[in-house]
Amino acid sequence: MKVTDHIKASKETLFSFEILPPLKGKSIQSIYDGIDPLMEFKPKFVNVTYHREEYIYKERENGLLEKIAIRKRPGTVGICAAIMNKYQVDAVPHLICGGFSKEETENALIDLQFLGIDNVLALRGDSIKTESNFRPHKDGHQYAEELIKQITEMNNGTYLMDDVTLEPTDFCIGAAGYPEKHFEAMNLQTDLHYLKAKVEAGAEYIVTQMFFDNEKYFAFVKACRDIGITVPIIPGLKPIKTMNHISFLPKFFHIDYPEELSKELLKCKTNSEVEKVGLEWGIHQSKQLKEAGVPCIHYYTMSNSSMVKAIAREIF
Ligand code: FAD
Repeated sequence: MKVTDHIKASKETLFSFEILPPLKGKSIQSIYDGIDPLMEFKPKFVNVTYHREEYIYKERENGLLEKIAIRKRPGTVGICAAIMNKYQVDAVPHLICGGFSKEETENALIDLQFLGIDNVLALRGDSIKTESNFRPHKDGHQYAEELIKQITEMNNGTYLMDDVTLEPTDFCIGAAGYPEKHFEAMNLQTDLHYLKAKVEAGAEYIVTQMFFDNEKYFAFVKACRDIGITVPIIPGLKPIKTMNHISFLPKFFHIDYPEELSKELLKCKTNSEVEKVGLEWGIHQSKQLKEAGVPCIHYYTMSNSSMVKAIAREIF
């Protein structure tokens, strides 16, 4: 079932979460161990993130360095199929532009369609560590908008091979939105302009980057509505758990902590103190969002479901 149909069918705020594929070599059980504790809250869909290849330099016998691509985590197709099969819940694979040619994207989408996967979250992806800017595959897409257009074309029955008639796909497409703007955007207005372009290209709902200040989410939704973006905007939340998160999350995700939260975090000396603050903040944010009638709250587990469980117990 499509994410948008789940939203339409429910009068209540839905619960959903996102998991990371395990590092290569780990079994599928490590995924189930992350999902099992959260199933009691009846998620309507579970997202699976996509992690592109990284490049390392390996010294050859002749002393020259060889550039080698390594994938640390497996792709999403098999994991989504396993999740749907085991839990009878919709799995939403993340699909990115980075590292993919248009043809590889088409093939991945055909595999997803065969597996009965109705949803995809279409993203650009970030630059790889060895590049300062995002560089698309030479036959791929520069922006998520172009990827969304390709999926929409397949939904209309237009594939890259245009010499045969093919069955249209029927994917519900999601896109990313940034209440505190995407870090490369000139300003929030240009970012919103391109967000609208993603919706016009076929995105049927938006999931936001994590934020810790609900006012920023509410202002973002208003700004979207003001420029004519009418699709559901699902807030994404991440519970702060460790001392490391205090600096890592703002740095990596380009977000700010509101003053009230930062004051509490500054007092913390241990992980368990941070976890207590993070839990209280996550519950406070979730309660307020639910009261505001948001369609769904999407939690970033980042391989750790215990805090999401503790929050969900209070909210769902
Ligand atoms: P885009 O929408 O393409 O935007 C990228 C930048 O370009 C923005 O600054 C935008 O303003 C600008 N822009 C957009 N269109 C145009 C245009 N036509 N012309 C000029 N400028 C333009 N990354 C992963 O690698 N794997 C994941 O699984 C993953 N999951 C995510 C889930 C969510 C909910 C979110 C919010 C992010 C996720 N990301 C993931 C991170 C995401 O890939 C990065 O934030 C990436 O840098 C931008 O992706 P995007 O789809 O928002 O890009």
